[in-house]
Amino acid sequence: MRATSQRLADLGITRATLLVDRARCEAKIARFVQRARMSGVALRPHFKTHQCAAIGEWFRTAGVTRATVSSLGQAAYFADHGWDDLTLAVPANPAEADALADLARRIRLGVIVDHPATVAALPGPLQVWLEVDVGDARTGVPWDDHAPLADLAARVEAAPTLELVGLLAHAGHAYRTAHRAATFHATRERLQAARSHLQRPGLQLSAGDTPGFAAVPDWSGLDEARPGNFVFFDLMQLDAGACTVADLACAVACPVIGVYPGRGEAVVHAGAVHLSKERLDDGYGRLLGLTDGGFGDLLPGWTVAGLSQEHGVLAATGEAARAQLADLRPGDRVLIAPVHACLTGEQFGSYRTLDGAELPRYRRS
Ligand code: PLP
Repeated sequence: MRATSQRLADLGITRATLLVDRARCEAKIARFVQRARMSGVALRPHFKTHQCAAIGEWFRTAGVTRATVSSLGQAAYFADHGWDDLTLAVPANPAEADALADLARRIRLGVIVDHPATVAALPGPLQVWLEVDVGDARTGVPWDDHAPLADLAARVEAAPTLELVGLLAHAGHAYRTAHRAATFHATRERLQAARSHLQRPGLQLSAGDTPGFAAVPDWSGLDEARPGNFVFFDLMQLDAGACTVADLACAVACPVIGVYPGRGEAVVHAGAVHLSKERLDDGYGRLLGLTDGGFGDLLPGWTVAGLSQEHGVLAATGEAARAQLADLRPGDRVLIAPVHACLTGEQFGSYRTLDGAELPRYRRS
C-alpha cells in the first residue's frame, strides 16, 4: 500500500485521476481482434466504454476499422477523428433526424430501429439494422415476433435512402446470469432463427456484450461482434467471472483525506461524482496495487464501503488491512478499481497513462 502510494505520488497524482494501464488494454484488444479473426467475424467494438480518440487509435493500430457508439455526439467526435464506419447502437431518435442526415453525408453511418414510426422518420443515406430482443427486454423486437420484424424489414426496404443491412442484438441479460456461454449461444441461435423467418439470408447478424464474448472463443455464425467493456474490464465483470484481476485496466487514483482507525475506516476524496454509484454486494470499488510493471493485485480486506458526492469511505477488514490502515495518513494515495468502468469513465474529462500521458475523452455538451 505504501509502495502504491509512493508510485501514485511519483505520477503526480494530487486529486482523483482516471488511470489507464495501456499495456493491459492493448493486450486485450489484441486478444479480441485475434478471436474475431479466428471466427471470421468483423470486430466493431463499442467505443462508449472509453470515448477517447487516443484509445481508438490503439484499436486502429490493431487493425480495427469500424466501431459502435451510443450517441450522435460520440459518433460526430469519432468521425472527427477519422472513423468513417460507425453504428449508433441505441434506437434512432426521430428528433435527431436532421443531425443524423448531416453525419450520414460524412461517413458510413448505421442506425438501429425497432418501430415503424422511427423508420418513417429516418433520413438517408443510412445503413439500418433491425434491433432484435434476444432476452434482455430493453429495446428491440422480440426475436420470435416474426410479423413485426417482417413489417419493419419491408418498410426499410421500401425507403429509397435506407439500406437494410441486418439484425442486431445486445444480450444485456448476460450480466445477470452465471451461464454466460449459454447466453452467447442462445443469442446467436435466436438471431439466426429471426433471419431465417425473414427469408433474407443475406442479412448480417451483429451481437455484442463483453460477458458473452469473453466466455466463448468461437464467434463464427455471426458477422459482427460489438463488445466494448473488455478494453478496461471492471469489478462487475470480475464478479461475473468474465475476466481476471490481471485484466483490470482502468482505475481511479485519489488522495486519502481522513483516517479513522477506531472505526476501521479511511476516507478518500473520490465520491459518487468520480466513481459513479454502481455497486456490488461488497461496495463501490476495491483497492488495487500499482507496481513498477503496471496495475497489480487487489488489496485483500479493503472495499469502498460508502459514497457521498465527494467522499469515498474505505473499510479495512482483517488483520493485514487493519495494519495498513494504522500506517495510513492523509496525503497518501490509493488506487480504486471501479465497479463499472464505463460509468466511472463518464465522470472524467481524460485518462492518464502510467507513463504520464494525458488522453482527453469526448465531452457531452
Ligand atoms: N451493443 C450495445 C447495443 C450495447 O448497449 C452495449 C453495451 O451496453 C454493447 C454493444 C457492448 O456491451 P459491453 O458493454 O458488455 O461490452
